[in-house]
Amino acid sequence: MIAAMLLIAPSTILISGGMLVDGSGSKPRLADVRIKGSQIVAIGSLMRLQGETVVNAKGLVVAPGFIDAHSHALGGIKGDPTAISQLMQGITTAVGGQDGGWSQPVAAEFQDIKRIKPAINFALFSGHGGLRASVMGNDYKRVASLTEISKMRNLLAADMKAGSLGLSSGLEYDPGYYSDTKELVQLAQVAHKGIYISHVRDEADKAMDAFQELVKIGREGALHAQISHIKLGSKAVWNKTAEVLKLIEKEKLTADVYPYTYWQSTIAALSPSREWENDEIWVKGLDDVGGPQNVRLSTYTPNPAWVGKTLTEIGQETGRSPIKIIQEILRTTNEEGRQSVVVTAMQERDLIQFIKHPRIMFCSDGSIGGSHPRGAGSFPRILGRYVRELKVLSLQEAIRKMTSFPAQTFALKNRGIIRKNYIADIVVFDPRAIADHATPTDSKALSTGVREVFVNGVHTVREAKLLGSRAGMPVQRGV
Ligand SMILES: [Zn+2]
Repeated sequence: MIAAMLLIAPSTILISGGMLVDGSGSKPRLADVRIKGSQIVAIGSLMRLQGETVVNAKGLVVAPGFIDAHSHALGGIKGDPTAISQLMQGITTAVGGQDGGWSQPVAAEFQDIKRIKPAINFALFSGHGGLRASVMGNDYKRVASLTEISKMRNLLAADMKAGSLGLSSGLEYDPGYYSDTKELVQLAQVAHKGIYISHVRDEADKAMDAFQELVKIGREGALHAQISHIKLGSKAVWNKTAEVLKLIEKEKLTADVYPYTYWQSTIAALSPSREWENDEIWVKGLDDVGGPQNVRLSTYTPNPAWVGKTLTEIGQETGRSPIKIIQEILRTTNEEGRQSVVVTAMQERDLIQFIKHPRIMFCSDGSIGGSHPRGAGSFPRILGRYVRELKVLSLQEAIRKMTSFPAQTFALKNRGIIRKNYIADIVVFDPRAIADHATPTDSKALSTGVREVFVNGVHTVREAKLLGSRAGMPVQRGV
């Protein structure tokens, strides 16, 4: 009987001969890692046990699985639960519920994740915009009443109990756009065991004011605050990184960033004004981002022939001005139909300052099958372009910012470091070869260089091929 039990005991896997970059920020060192079940059970110079599966990591880096601090992958997981575009970046946990998005309570969302069985883990924020929509319905173009705020607080309290990471907001989008700081503070207070994370009200001319609003919400809500996908997205704020980083340090904020100089959103995001028929706002909006040649349509359901073209190109084809084209796009998609644009509006000089900073972690802000390359390329782009080629930061610091730093900030317990008894989310990659290939015109091209991935101890990628394992699970805020 005892012998039979020994035979069915979970077998172990030895990741052998790799260069361990453990996520803490410590220097790389040669070390083997043993996994048993979902856990890391030993690290060091390890002898192979009898019958043990060995993964040869010679010449490769062994690191904790990457945590995508701002992800929209959850929306696509039903269609593609294998999450290949995330796994090929080394991502094992995606942090969703961002930008104020929320369609159902976190407990129900976690149930859905369990049912779908995606290949990667998901942690979730509760989105202010969705809470607002569920309480205010279509009557949201105003600040919420005290009764409405109290209903939102109840929904949020239930989410926090279910393991939500805190409150997210998306203040450039409907319906969050119409809220005031007071409403956000009252909600943030309920999320005080977690953090407040925000796509702030303005990422362009008034970005500094928007960051100050976030500071106020964090202070008055008595919780940590993080700026989502930080950027300086207009001429007026280009080269102001020193000022922003000073604020981040002084207020002990954190932020996340994706490694591209172009953003993707709806075309309305070119201007904070909602007077769409007023030509003046678009004259300024286009000038702020350097002109219509920097605005490329990435989705436009009423006329797919325009997709992939810049406003300048569409203008040449149709004889219409860029402003008339913007207004037509908004008019034709106001009720139904979808549109999105990729806009080159950031300076790489600024981006590099953000990528370097110790209080700024990494995100993709990407989705599965999305039309911005960040969904398939972000993490390898950091490791390839910014670590290997431009030497903007060290490998161990980049990995810390992909692993233990987000795990600690979001309270993802026992993840983000290769340490005994921690969960075995592990990536093995080739530091000389890891690279992104997705571009604005081929946004889904997979990254290369990731060789092995383990999710909750389950071998999910072997020799750069998907094994079809779907071992991802909901990850709750740790206590
Ligand atoms: Zn956002």
